[in-house]
Amino acid sequence: MKPLLPTSTAGSLPKPSWIAEPEKLWSPWKLQGDELADAKRDALSLSLHEQQQAGIDIVSDGEQSRQHFVTTFIEHLGGVDFEKRETVRIRDRYDASVPTVVGPVSRRQGVFVDDARFLRQQTRQPIKWALPGPMTMIDTLYDGHYRSREKLAWEFAKILNQEARELEAAGVDIIQFDEPAFNVFFDEVNDWGIATLERAIEGLQCETAVHICYGYGIPANTEWKKTLGSAWRQYERVFPKLQASSIGMVSLECHNSRVPMALIELLRGKKIMVGAIDVASNAVETPEDVADTLRRALQFVDADKLCACTNCGMAPLPRTIARAKLEALSAGAAIVRRELSS
Ligand SMILES: [Zn+2]
Repeated sequence: MKPLLPTSTAGSLPKPSWIAEPEKLWSPWKLQGDELADAKRDALSLSLHEQQQAGIDIVSDGEQSRQHFVTTFIEHLGGVDFEKRETVRIRDRYDASVPTVVGPVSRRQGVFVDDARFLRQQTRQPIKWALPGPMTMIDTLYDGHYRSREKLAWEFAKILNQEARELEAAGVDIIQFDEPAFNVFFDEVNDWGIATLERAIEGLQCETAVHICYGYGIPANTEWKKTLGSAWRQYERVFPKLQASSIGMVSLECHNSRVPMALIELLRGKKIMVGAIDVASNAVETPEDVADTLRRALQFVDADKLCACTNCGMAPLPRTIARAKLEALSAGAAIVRRELSS
C-alpha cells in the first residue's frame, strides 16, 4: 500500500562543494572529463542517501549532473549553437545571454537515461525525474531558425517524448516537466503550451507531472514577486485547461506564497504536490509550519491525492539548511498523516 501524503522534492538539491561552488545558482563544475563523470555519480548517490536519511518517500537524482535545469538538457541536442549567443528577456523578467537555434533541433542520444538507470539500481523507492518543459525551453533560447515559438515548442515536445520514454524504460516512476513559463505566458499556455506538454507525455504509462512555480529565490524573481500584488492569481489562468489535460500531477508553490490556496480546487481530480517548504529563505520551517500548509491544502485536495513537496528546487541553498528543510518536510507530513488516520 502506498503511504498517505508521500514526501518529495520539486527537483534540484545542493551539490557537494567538491563538484561545484556551493550556494550559487548555475555554478560551473570544478572538475573535467572522467573525473567529472565520476564525481557526478558520487554526488547523485550522496544526494539519494541524504533524501533517504531525511525520510523522503519519492526520491530523485537531486539534479546533481546538471549545471542548469534547462541548458544542460539543450547542450545535448543538435541544432543549437552554444557559441553563438544572443541576449533575450527570460520570462519577461531578466536579460540573459542564451544560445541560438541555428537549424532543426534533434536529440542524438539519451541525455539523462544513464543517470536514471544508475539511480534505479540503488533504490526500490519510487523515483521522480525532472525535465524542462517545452515552453520553458524555448524561453531560454534565441530562435534563429524556426522563428516561431510555437513551432519550436512542438519540436522540443517530440524530443522530450523520446527522452521520457527512455527514462520510463530505465525505471523512472514519475516524469515531471518544469514549466515556470506557465506562470507568465497565459495566452500561449492555453493556445499551445499545454498541448505541447501532452505531446511530450504521449504513450507514457508511468505517472506524469508538471511543476509550475515562481522561481528560485534569486533577486530577479524576488523583485518580480513584489509586483504581483497581495493575491497571486496566476495559477487561475492555466488551471482549468490543465485540469482537463492528461497530465497526472501538478507541483505548486504554496508555502509563504501569496497564492490563494483555494485555487487548487480548480485542479480537482489531479494529484497535487503541495510546496510546503520555502526555497527562497534560509529559515528552516518547523514541522508544524509544514503541517499547517498541508492542512490548508487538504481543504481543496483529497488526502489520497496530496503529496508534500518543496516550493521549487533547493540547489542554491546551503546543504545543511536544505537537509534540515527536508527533515521538517517529513516530520510535518507525518503529523498530518497521524491526524488523518486517527
Ligand atoms: Zn520551480
